[in-house]
Amino acid sequence: MFDICVLGSLNMDLVINVERIPSIGETILAKDFKKFPGGKGANQAVASARLGSNVVMLGCIGKDDNGCILIDNLKRDNINTRYIKVEEKMPTGIALITVDSKGNNIISVYPGANMAVDLSYVEGLKEVFKNSKIIISQFETPVDATLKAFEFAKKEGKTTILNPAPAKKIDKDLISLSDIIIPNETETELITGINPKDEKDIKRAGEFLIKQGAKYVVITLGERGAAIISKENFVLVNAYKVDAVDTTAAGDSFIGAMASYLSKKDLNFNTLYGAVKFANKVSAITVTKIGAQSSLPYLKEVFERFG
Ligand code: ADP
Repeated sequence: MFDICVLGSLNMDLVINVERIPSIGETILAKDFKKFPGGKGANQAVASARLGSNVVMLGCIGKDDNGCILIDNLKRDNINTRYIKVEEKMPTGIALITVDSKGNNIISVYPGANMAVDLSYVEGLKEVFKNSKIIISQFETPVDATLKAFEFAKKEGKTTILNPAPAKKIDKDLISLSDIIIPNETETELITGINPKDEKDIKRAGEFLIKQGAKYVVITLGERGAAIISKENFVLVNAYKVDAVDTTAAGDSFIGAMASYLSKKDLNFNTLYGAVKFANKVSAITVTKIGAQSSLPYLKEVFERFG
């Protein structure tokens, strides 16, 4: 039995550090280059696993060195990688990230094998969904596969969590198959047309998704924390005050932490409140460290920092 099943992306982040971002047609010499395992799906899987959850990762890599490195990396955190598909004809997804000396970046993502997460792959994984308590998915892999997975998961009475990132409008069918939808501020605005700038608009944006069939909406609000919206309730949960140095993977750590907490409870407004409080702690630690997966804390660190 798995606590959490993540259906999502696996990418290799190729990070090049430059003094300044080159202009079109210009070539400049970089100061440094490093590869980091990434992809929202894999980041969320690692976040949950480090908090003590039994996690299975579903997705697709290419038959190449990057793919092998990503699998080894997940295994280091005891994530089950057995069902990850290896696509012969496509390369593993990559993100090309150029960062200048001020920390500004430009990012291009080539999804590659992530696009091979298709209906037949998901159809073959019914047993895995059946054996998982919570299914999480995002928008870095094809939406029709997520829809199919959630349909199956809901038939089996499982909890489904949708992180609609990168931002795009959500199909109504997918909204109503999602127990919890977790967008950040940008995603909320694109999906609902409402900028969640103050309490009134945060509530309105959440209710927009609730009316379309989501059971709960959790809007992450950066240093403001997160809001929980249901049909009957609304609550804002403040973030912890920390010295943030790099907010990469803040959202992924938040989602992984919520899932980890909820996998041990029944889902209701009270447990969701507990999950958001816990997730705020985990992502507060994440933003105090540089990098994506390298900044995701282990449970021990969360207890040491916040008790
Ligand atoms: P994303 O990384 O997807 O853009 P957010 O920026 O909303 O997501 O951050 C997710 C969560 O990370 C927030 O809900 C909050 O708990 C935490 N967080 C983000 N930035 C800060 C910060 N500056 N200080 C403390 N916590 C933060």
